[in-house]
Amino acid sequence: MTNIKQIRLKPTKEKSILRFHPWVFSGAIKDIDSDIKEGDIVEVISNKGRYLATGHYQIGTISVRIFEFKQQEINEKYWATKIADAISLRKDLGFINNKETNIFRLIHAEGDEMPGCIIDIYNTAAIVQFHSYGMWKLRKTFSKIIQNLLPNIEYIFDKSLGTLPEKFILENSIKNDYLFKTGNKNEVIASEYNNLFKIDWINGQKTGFFIDQRENRELLGQLSKNKKVLNTFCYSGGFSIFALNSGAKEVYSLDSSKKAIDLVEKNIELINNKVGNHVSIVADAMDYIKNLKEDFDIIVLDPPAFAKHQKVRHKAIQGYKRLNARAIEQIKPGGILFTFSCSQVIDKELFRHTILSAAINAGRSVKILHQLHQPADHPVNIYHPESEYLKGLVLKIY
Ligand code: SAH
Repeated sequence: MTNIKQIRLKPTKEKSILRFHPWVFSGAIKDIDSDIKEGDIVEVISNKGRYLATGHYQIGTISVRIFEFKQQEINEKYWATKIADAISLRKDLGFINNKETNIFRLIHAEGDEMPGCIIDIYNTAAIVQFHSYGMWKLRKTFSKIIQNLLPNIEYIFDKSLGTLPEKFILENSIKNDYLFKTGNKNEVIASEYNNLFKIDWINGQKTGFFIDQRENRELLGQLSKNKKVLNTFCYSGGFSIFALNSGAKEVYSLDSSKKAIDLVEKNIELINNKVGNHVSIVADAMDYIKNLKEDFDIIVLDPPAFAKHQKVRHKAIQGYKRLNARAIEQIKPGGILFTFSCSQVIDKELFRHTILSAAINAGRSVKILHQLHQPADHPVNIYHPESEYLKGLVLKIY
């Protein structure tokens, strides 16, 4: 039917693909067409030659990232349909033409059946981050499709320098750069539930903001009135801004990065009423929490992924445990702790168990009020449990 190149699996190695898992590991491959290059679109076939799936080939532990399980031609129309489906889902979720919230994730890699591709929307900006060479090769096609389907977009910025493997960066002299630009700035003001943020995709971390905490920030806002809040690992102050706009008595924002704290200060300036009750701190979170007086009503712990691989999982668990034990020890009696992990290799159960050990160490009475996760615009592909990464607990501590 097509002249797509093929990769043949070893006998019995097709099981995970028959269960729609979107990765082919290198050990499963029997042979590959000789002219296949990295970044090519390939068909994966069983040992007996039956079509199984279509994906992007790349040398590495994961050799094929699958984006399709039905044999068909892969052309611009195919990708346009896929991106239109993702937009349609976000429309159903209420994110399109929504003035209160115009920050959302449009493409969540495997969660939207586009492994290797992340697209985040900030008002009139679309920031694209590629993790695979095959997806990066499609950047101009995606840019054209986004311009057609989302006519309000003024900026499309490719920020793949930190996410693509080094060899592709060097071979192709890849830079972070605009794919499309009609606006004359390098940042936009965007909104989450009417809380305003300045999004600087060039200097900011990731695509400029941590969109995945939106609903959890909203929950924190609901609990913050007249409270004294400590937001650690605050980055650009997402939780702090929600707390301040919801009437918190005092908010302390802490990050080890001075650049992050500069972003917090810029976001504070966007708050209408003059804020005299905010304190910025550049420090290590653990050092700071160790010496806390027991006077914070709410503490947020949202560290970066302590474990990016299975090998370092044990050490990461010890890190989460120490940090949480200290926060549980030092919070005001009756206080509330928002604690998170975004490590993919630490699942919900393990995270909860880790917090349980921390609570035992701290020796206080602890109740779970909420079990948090990533929002619906970061959908979890049911066949790919790895796409579920953010978990959080809201704890009441006596
Ligand atoms: N809560 C944030 C996202 C956190 S990302 C939000 O809602 O947007 C993790 C942050 O932790 C980064 O900004 C990083 O600079 C910071 N960080 C990393 N190690 C740290 C440490 N040891 N102490 C304090 N902050 C740290």
